[in-house]
Amino acid sequence: MVSTKHTLPGSLQFNVAGLLTGPKGGTRSYELYIPVSELDQLDDAFDVVAPFRGNARFLWTNERILVLVSGDTAVAMQCSRCLETFEQPVHIEIEEAFIPTVDLATGQPLQTGDEDEDEALLIDEHHILNLSEILRQSILLALPMTPLCRPDCKGFCPVCGANLNNETCTCDVEDVDPRWAALSLFLEKDRDEPADNNGRHS
Ligand SMILES: [Zn+2]
Ligand SMILES: [Zn+2]
Repeated sequence: MVSTKHTLPGSLQFNVAGLLTGPKGGTRSYELYIPVSELDQLDDAFDVVAPFRGNARFLWTNERILVLVSGDTAVAMQCSRCLETFEQPVHIEIEEAFIPTVDLATGQPLQTGDEDEDEALLIDEHHILNLSEILRQSILLALPMTPLCRPDCKGFCPVCGANLNNETCTCDVEDVDPRWAALSLFLEKDRDEPADNNGRHS
């Protein structure tokens, strides 16, 4: 079957009835443009700030639809060094096999085999293949554990707290271990308070 190119108006749900009734080996290709408003519904754990742009390819084979998705979006994150919010580019590559749950000819439920089949990969009784859950998981997995606003983010001065990306300070930070810096801040604060009864500050 010749691949057909569709451009969808930004949905993660695809009716695959046509593909399922066609011969094995049939394919569909889609350009994907998923707006931020739809991506934002996926998970409260991340804040999507750019539409998802990419493409999807479906291949009907061996009682499954092999789904290949490739594309890019961006998520707002807080830099682990300077704590500024920035846009983290997110590249997504998905390769999953989706499974029909209903025989298209008879309308009868199909044995999906494994009882603990991943529900995210089931094509529903209306022949809708939904990429939402797989895309949600892929975005979560793609986010860095220690986000950096830029590879060379200078972070904070451990002594005065200045954001060194935006300003310079005159602190001698070369010899200061961050743990000692925290202690020195503590001591400084302590010094400003009145001496206690033990006269530690006299
Ligand atoms: Zn930073
Ligand atoms: Zn400083």
